[in-house]
Amino acid sequence: MGSIVLKQVSKVFGEAKVIPSIDLEIDNGEFVVFVGPSGCGKSTLLRLIAGLEDVSGGQIMIDGKDGTNLKPSDRGLAMVFQSYALYPHMSVRKNIAFPLKMANMPQAEIDKKVADAARVLNLTDYLERKPRQLSGGQRQRVAIGRAIVRQPAAFLFDEPLSNLDAALRVNMRLEISELHQQLKTTMVYVTHDQVEAMTMADKIVVLNRGNIEQVGSPLELYRSPRNLFVAGFIGSPK
Ligand code: ADP
Ligand code: MG
Repeated sequence: MGSIVLKQVSKVFGEAKVIPSIDLEIDNGEFVVFVGPSGCGKSTLLRLIAGLEDVSGGQIMIDGKDGTNLKPSDRGLAMVFQSYALYPHMSVRKNIAFPLKMANMPQAEIDKKVADAARVLNLTDYLERKPRQLSGGQRQRVAIGRAIVRQPAAFLFDEPLSNLDAALRVNMRLEISELHQQLKTTMVYVTHDQVEAMTMADKIVVLNRGNIEQVGSPLELYRSPRNLFVAGFIGSPK
C-alpha cells in the first residue's frame, strides 16, 4: 500500500505546457518532498496525483493499479489542506469526523477513529473546541487529523506550514516527521523551503519549469548536485 508511479505525466493549461513529461516512482512508506521555485508546477503535480486535476497525458499508478481516471475519493489518498480549510462553526471533533460522516460510517466507529487520531496528534483535550479557539499549530493538526481518520495509502501535503510563523513552522515540521515515523505511511510534501526539504525528506524531487532536475536523498543532492540550478537551490556550490 502507498506506492505511486508517474509515467510520462503531462499537464497543459490552454497554451501553457506546465508539466511537459514526468516519470517518477514513489515507494511505499517514503517521505518524498517536491521542491522548487514558485510557479514551477509543484502544486499542479500534487493535484494531478490527488485527481483534483486531470492529466493531459500519461499514467498514474497507485499501488500498482491504474488510477489515472479515478475520482479523487477513489484513489485512497488524502490531501492535507492548510489550516484555514477547517469548518469554523464545527468543533474539532466534528471537523475530524467530517469525512467519515460523509462516507456514512456508523457513529461508534467514527468515535473510535476520531479518538485514535486525536491521541496520535495530541488533540484529545481540544476535541470540543472550535478552530478559532486553537493555536495555528493545533489547527494544522486538526487538518491532518481529518486526513488520518480515512487511513489513506498516502498523505499529500501542499505547503501545509506556509501560514504559520517561523517558530511554529519548526515545531510542526518535527511533528509531521514524527507522525511519518509513527504511521509509516507514504507522504508527498510540497514546499519551496529548502530547510523543510532537507530535514524532512527521504527523497527530494527538485522541479524547475515543470521538469525534474534531480531526484535523490538530501545528502546525495547536497553532495552531488547535478547542475547549478540544483546546487543553487539545495546543494553546496559545484
Ligand atoms: P507551484 O505550486 O510550484 O508554485 P503551480 O503548480 O501552482 O506552481 O503552477 C505552475 C504553473 O501553472 C504556473 O505558471 C501557474 O500559473 C500555472 N497554473 C496552475 N494552475 C493553473 C490553472 N488552473 N489554469 C491555468 N494555469 C495554471
Ligand atoms: Mg503551489
